[in-house]
Amino acid sequence: MKTPIKNIFAVLSPFILLILAYIFFRKTNTMSKEQLDLIKLFPYAVFLLGFVIAWRFNRSRVFFTLIMLTLCLFLLGVVGKQAAESYAMLCLLLPVNITLFSFLKERGIFSLWGLVRVGLIVLQLLLAFWLIISGQGNLFKVINSNILPVNLHALTSLSQISLILFLITLTILVIRHVIYKSYQDIAFIGVLVALFLGLDNHKNLLLSAIFFAAAGIILIISIVQVTYSMAFFDELTGLPSRRALNQDMLQLGMKYVIAMLDIDFFKKFNDTYGHDTGDEVLKLVASILKNIMGGGKCYRYGGEEFTILFPGKNVEDVLPYLEELRQAISQRGFTPRSKDRLKSKPKGKPKNAKQLKQIFITVSIGVSPKKENLKTPDAVLKAADAALYRAKKKGRNCVSK
Ligand code: GH3
Ligand code: MG
Ligand code: MG
Repeated sequence: MKTPIKNIFAVLSPFILLILAYIFFRKTNTMSKEQLDLIKLFPYAVFLLGFVIAWRFNRSRVFFTLIMLTLCLFLLGVVGKQAAESYAMLCLLLPVNITLFSFLKERGIFSLWGLVRVGLIVLQLLLAFWLIISGQGNLFKVINSNILPVNLHALTSLSQISLILFLITLTILVIRHVIYKSYQDIAFIGVLVALFLGLDNHKNLLLSAIFFAAAGIILIISIVQVTYSMAFFDELTGLPSRRALNQDMLQLGMKYVIAMLDIDFFKKFNDTYGHDTGDEVLKLVASILKNIMGGGKCYRYGGEEFTILFPGKNVEDVLPYLEELRQAISQRGFTPRSKDRLKSKPKGKPKNAKQLKQIFITVSIGVSPKKENLKTPDAVLKAADAALYRAKKKGRNCVSK
């Protein structure tokens, strides 16, 4: 499986930013008081920018996380009589809210759902405020009690319950990232670490402010990353989309090959097994295509059609890999999920259970190189499409030049 450098950088970028934030903090000891006061306001400027971007791109999870960050940083800065209690509450509420926000669906900011969510945030804060002013001394003793067999006071100012909540949130976010491979979860992990560092260093408001600003920047970058993925990757299959293909075709040099691949009788497949099973098959085919060898890169052209670019290759180089791909797809049986029963039962004898379990599909492939009379990538792609048509005519499940 290929792991492009870009992906590794995307995953590491929140953590690189946190390191840069700390390096920046170390440089602040030579700054004037005015400069330091400005830095303390900087996170609010970042949050403001974040609110505008999140609103324009309709990223409600980022929007609500920013609301939490703003309120939290503001409360950390307001040193009142009950500073210790407010701090203890914030350390509990933040990880719980980050977990909740990571599970939220994007359901709009100024919608009914959005209002309900803002209401929940305000309700939590009112409840926390009420607990603090009503002098619930025992409650705060419980919150600050040591439930682990070790004393961690020398290491962190967070209570052990809060530490455990941070660790549970981290575990949930890592699991979510492993399952969904979403950049948003990586960003939430970065935000969680930034908040932990910000809260842990709350006695140094400057350092807290810098880490909170870093959390805001991580969230803004996540909007850019997620929007980029939406534009250049196909949501269903995870393959680069038609837009990415168009861009990459412009960068092809003087020698290259383009292949077009189309699933055979897919309409009939959908009619028989249902559209959802069809979608599962598209994902399966895409997962095989992602592993194409021979220097090829696959794209979802549209529907059940895929394009493969082979920069710097000629037809003879790529034919064995395409043949391998065709065979791999035709031999990979597909087992529909239990809910995906046959939509319309085929006529004749009912199939036995074993036959129902595994479905096999085939693909046809057309391939064309860049040559004298095919000057542009568009012309080569059309020639590959014509070759695909010939493969279909030949009886499908084959590769045609
Ligand atoms: P051929 O062997 O000639 O390619 O026949 P075909 O039935 O595959 O070709 P046709 O172009 O007539 O049908 C393509 C079908 O692909 C039509 C549509 O129902 C299905 N399809 C296109 N996009 C999707 C999708 O995203 N999900 C699902 N499930 N089906 C799709
Ligand atoms: Mg088609
Ligand atoms: Mg087809």
